[in-house]
Amino acid sequence: MRYLSTRGQVRGIPFKQAVMMGLAEDGGLLLPESIPQFTPGDLDALAKLDYPELAFQVMARFIDDIPSADLKTLIDRSYATFTHPEVTPVVSTGGVHILELFHGPTLAFKDVALQLLGNLFEYLLAETGEHMNILGATSGDTGSAAIYGVRGKRGINIFILHPHGKVSPVQEMQMTTVTDPNVYNLAIRGTFDDGQRIVKEIFSDLDFKHRFALGAVNSINWARVLAQVVYYVHAWAAVRRATGSESIDVSVPTGNFGDIFAGYVARRMGVPIRRLILATNANNILTRFVNEGEYAIGDVHPTLSPSMDIQVASNFERYLYYLYGQDPLRVRNAFAGFASSGRMTFTAEEQRQVGAEFSSLSVGDDDILQEIRDFHATTGYILDPHTAVGVRAGRTLAGDGVPMVCLATAHPAKFPEAVHRAIGQTPPRPASLDGLEQRPRRCEVVEAQTGVIKTFVEQHAL
Ligand SMILES: *Cc1c(COP(=O)(O)O)cnc(C)c1O
Repeated sequence: MRYLSTRGQVRGIPFKQAVMMGLAEDGGLLLPESIPQFTPGDLDALAKLDYPELAFQVMARFIDDIPSADLKTLIDRSYATFTHPEVTPVVSTGGVHILELFHGPTLAFKDVALQLLGNLFEYLLAETGEHMNILGATSGDTGSAAIYGVRGKRGINIFILHPHGKVSPVQEMQMTTVTDPNVYNLAIRGTFDDGQRIVKEIFSDLDFKHRFALGAVNSINWARVLAQVVYYVHAWAAVRRATGSESIDVSVPTGNFGDIFAGYVARRMGVPIRRLILATNANNILTRFVNEGEYAIGDVHPTLSPSMDIQVASNFERYLYYLYGQDPLRVRNAFAGFASSGRMTFTAEEQRQVGAEFSSLSVGDDDILQEIRDFHATTGYILDPHTAVGVRAGRTLAGDGVPMVCLATAHPAKFPEAVHRAIGQTPPRPASLDGLEQRPRRCEVVEAQTGVIKTFVEQHAL
């Protein structure tokens, strides 16, 4: 399998190179040249496999430059860190099927992809004898999942900026209690936006970027999408076993379009997913896209589901490539227009296609709290505020008997304040958070200045 860029100026590169490139060098996103197809017989065989075997069978269709035995080992190691034997179990309650993606080390779905990406990076760097310094800014979930993905890995140092005192206490402790020598937590005296701006400025200094082999951890790496395709197949198989239904609908709490794009790939591969529901919070650029045919930048509103508080959806370009009939020139022109006007509009025919491929609902904070409350009252199950967005959208748009799978993207114990507001109690903590407050921490508090961060990286880079 070879990979190409949505903007057409990178093509024919193998998987390994696509992983190390991250963002395509022409500014686009990398995609496989073709999407492999599962026959009904393939799907029946896949439905019998446990999670790591399933992951291997799905990923092997996209990866032909890593020997099978090595790929198996990488996958096994990545999912051995999950605390549930099924890795991503399905819990059927309240009329929906909750796909629990939060049994990894940081209790959010990003672990599914970043546990694998960390192992892949280490493996590929060891092959070439190179090293890498990962630099990123986080408002919470991505940073901790990335840190847990690469902690203790050879050939990789990681520097994660978070706004000092402005991430949730659980998220802050998850990051700063990782004391492996290759992990550097930098609490900046500023906001998340300051962190993002600093990281952007450092990456745009190409000399600095190359000198220190800087790498990124945002959701644009193809390997992250690929890892996420697996659990859509897993969910379909589990729900078919439980209900006998041949097809499913899936509701996905969406920010950057990464997770739902993995569902779109799974469907293109032949997995019987009928409807994909794109559930957004008050930051509803994608809901406006699906329902009104306009993709336009708005202001970011802070919500109870902070990991979905985005302005533009970084993975949207991958879908646009298919919507535009796999024509990279059209994608390039669309983004050139978007860069100057902040909006993209779509023809009636394109809108019809989008509407056939996705349904969408935007769920505000009041409805998030209401959904956590209702769901708990009727089932005893506690939703986290991100999962509640998807469950609200799924339950609102469900109706004709096709099972509704709702992706649970975080454990409620990560967001105890919001849960407490909804139901007057804090969710039970899973064992991985036991004694978190007492663990040793490692974190530097620094000024939010690009020069300060550059100097720190210079002094601690591999
Ligand atoms: C990142 C995140 C999301 C959004 O995922 P995307 O791939 O950006 O759509 C949803 N929920 C949680 C808990 C997250 O951490």
